[in-house]
This record gives sequence, C-alpha cells and structure tokens, in this order.
Amino acid sequence: MKLRFAPSPTGFLHVGGARTAIFNLLHARRYGGTYLLRIEDTDVERSRQHHAEQIVSSLTWLGVEWDEGPIYQSDRLERYRERAAELVAQDKAYRCYCTIEELEADRAAAEKAGKQWHYSGRCRIAAEIGDEREGPHVIRFKVTPGPIHFRDLIRGDVHFEGELLDDFVLLRSDDNPTYHLSVVVDDIDMEVTHVARGDDHLSNTPKHILLFRAFGADVPTFAHLPLILGSDKKRLSKRTGATSVEEYRDLGIVPEALVNFLTLLGWSPGGDRELFTADEASEMFDLSDVNKAPAVFDPEKLLWMNGQYLMRMPADEIYPHLVPFLGDAPPSLDELRGAIELNKSRGRTLRDIADLLQSYTIADEELEYDAEASKKHLKGDDLAERMRELHAALAAAEPFDVNTTEEALRQLAESHGVGAGKLIHPLRLALTGRGSSPPIFDVAVVLGKEKSLRRLQRLIDSLDAIAR
Ligand code: GLU
Repeated sequence: MKLRFAPSPTGFLHVGGARTAIFNLLHARRYGGTYLLRIEDTDVERSRQHHAEQIVSSLTWLGVEWDEGPIYQSDRLERYRERAAELVAQDKAYRCYCTIEELEADRAAAEKAGKQWHYSGRCRIAAEIGDEREGPHVIRFKVTPGPIHFRDLIRGDVHFEGELLDDFVLLRSDDNPTYHLSVVVDDIDMEVTHVARGDDHLSNTPKHILLFRAFGADVPTFAHLPLILGSDKKRLSKRTGATSVEEYRDLGIVPEALVNFLTLLGWSPGGDRELFTADEASEMFDLSDVNKAPAVFDPEKLLWMNGQYLMRMPADEIYPHLVPFLGDAPPSLDELRGAIELNKSRGRTLRDIADLLQSYTIADEELEYDAEASKKHLKGDDLAERMRELHAALAAAEPFDVNTTEEALRQLAESHGVGAGKLIHPLRLALTGRGSSPPIFDVAVVLGKEKSLRRLQRLIDSLDAIAR
C-alpha cells in the first residue's frame, strides 16, 4: 500500500491540507504502507519555491513524517512530455492547434445558443483524417464516450457520464503538463495505490480514471475527503478564523493538539474519546470510516483541546514549544521548570503560559502591581507593619517549602486575629504583581526564598514611600 500527500505550493499549508496529509499518514501507518510527499509545482505562474519550503516546514512541525520525497514535479517535466507523446503515438491523444480566438468564438456561439460549451473536436477530426495544421499546439486527450464508475472509500459508488467530459488538455502549448497529466503519470510511476484528497477534486477523478486506463495502469483506490466548514457553516475562510497551520503555531497551539483536533474533523475513534496521540489514532484509523458530511472547524474546541494537552505535558516537553514565545533572551529550562509546572493548566495557549511566566522571570524592579487588585487588597493602616512581620516570619521559615511558609503565614494571621487572606492577597501582589495566581506558597517556593523576600521587601518599601 502506498499513499501520498501532493500539495501544490501556491500558498501556506492550510488546515484542510494538513488534515489531508494527516489522514493519508494515518492510513499508511495503520496498514504498514509507504507515505510519499510530492510537491505539485508544475503550474509555474502560481507555484513558489518558498511556499514549498513553508509546506515542508509546517508538515515537519506537525510531526507528519514521510518515507519518500519530497519529490518535485518540476524535476520530472521530461517524463510528462514523454508520456504525452506515447499517447499521441497510440492515437489516444492528439495535437490541437486551435487558437484562443477560435476557442473563444466557439464558446461565445455556444453561449448564444444557450448550450454548454464543449470543445468542438475540430483538431481531433483533422488528426484522424491526417489533415493536421502546423505551429503552436496543445495535446488533448481523446475522451472515449461511456459511463465512468468507481467506488470511493468515503463516498461509496460514484457515477459520471463520459459524454459530459471534454477532450481535456494534457500538455500546454509551452510544453508544460496540466495537473491531470502529471498527477496520473506520477501516481503510476510512484506506484500509488490509494489517493486520498479533498473532494474539490472529485470532478477531476473521471478524467484521471480514463488516463490510468489509457496508460494501461491499475486505477488506484480513491477517497475524497469532505470539506471543512467554518463555524458559520460556510467553507472555511480567513474571515471566520485563521486558516494556515503557521497561524495556529504562532498563536501558541502545540502540534500534538492540532493534529489531534484535525484528526477529529470527519473521523472519530468511537465512543466519546477525544484525546489521543497520532500513534494511537494510527492503530484505529481507516479512510473508509471518514464521514461523508462536511466537518465543522470550531476554534473554541481547538483552544480547549490545546489546554488539555498543555495540562498533561511535562514542563520538559512544553519548554521547546514555549521558547519562541519567551522573547529575545529566553530563560533556561532549569530556570522555568517549576513555574511551567505551576502554570501549565492555567492557560489555553503557549502565549497564555508565556504571559503568566513573565511574573516569575521579570526583574524585581520591573514588576508592576495590578491596579484593581492593589485597590482591593493594599489597605489598612497597619498593612506595612503586617508585611514587615510577614517578611520576618518567612525569613525564618526553614527549609523554605510550602508547609513552612504556609505555617508561618497562618500563625501570624492568627496572632493578629485576622483572616489569612489579609496576608495572602498582599503577598500575592508582592510576589506576582497580579490579583490571581497559583497557590501562593507554591509560587513562593518556585521563586525561591531570596527572590520572594526581595519582592516582599519591595512592596513594603513602596508602602512606606506612599505613607511618607
Ligand atoms: N496538488 C493537488 C492540490 O494541491 C492535489 C492533487 C491530488 O491529491 O491528487 O490540490
């Protein structure tokens, strides 16, 4: 079994393309098949090398690993010309010399008569009676009339009327192949057995089947994947949210979560199981279990799922993904490990986590106190005095751990006859600058004794300054 992902490098890898890549990968892995990456860059007007590189890097980031390739179709142009010439020699294709003006005139006439335009077959007839013109030409495939039928793994039985097909172009007048020619030549040469692609290609499939037959090759098994719709139930578009894989990476989605999420667009392992690794999915996945109905892309669910992944990943695994969000001089894993563990369940994206980590890594003098929380918690004439006593109590806590610090604070609160909150909230502001945080004694331990005491002293100093 051999599957392939065959993107055209005309833009970023979008989430629909990524899902196609993942489904092909999972099916190949499930059945021990080979997975090929082929870059379909024969459309010179629209293809760009940097898009090809971006697609490759997005796939790598996602963890989609191919066994063969990337093969660039632009390296194989001679092969397509050779195969087209074979079909001409076998009378299965012919040279068409019709000019754009002639074709336009035919089209206009058909339109006027209220008919759908079809290529007239002018050059086909000329070729058959040996009355060919000379000069610039394309090569057209001779469509043989008759119904075309195939069994799609997802859509079931599909029928097309061969009569509705035009003699389509294989080779353009500049000698470059059309998509139809290059895709079929490659799927034959590369021994592809299963073609899973977006169902926007469904109408191309009968042409491809005729070509496979003309070359005397086996027709591969097709699986046409349904569309992905945006939350507005229309085709997923920029307007309803990000569409490229890179945008989700930059938003702080971890690749494992995006792969999990995309795998659920049109497929499910059964039951209500929603969280699984690609390896787990590849033990259960089958293209024929993919839903016929379009899938709906729900960005909220992706954020939820990303949060679930972050919560479950050890800090050591999160850290490499986090680095790009940590600014120019990212702190080391050792400096951040504790803070990541403490905060990883408090955000939905890497960006959220990076923001939370700032309170830990920022220089003491740059820590700002949240205005609203300050108004609420930094009050009472004896506040500075209470904080001084807390400073002394924490300084005496030995070893400086969650139990000793908590004990110190609670004893102090008791001796003053006040609730612990009267000490905890100002301490939180002193240590993090924020109105909310993980349990404050955990925060203190992660910051360490020295830094915690320094930050508490800084709050005391600023209270003193206001009092003067
Ligand atoms: N290159 C085509 C595309 O990007 C896919 C062709 C195929 O999978 O057959 O839409």
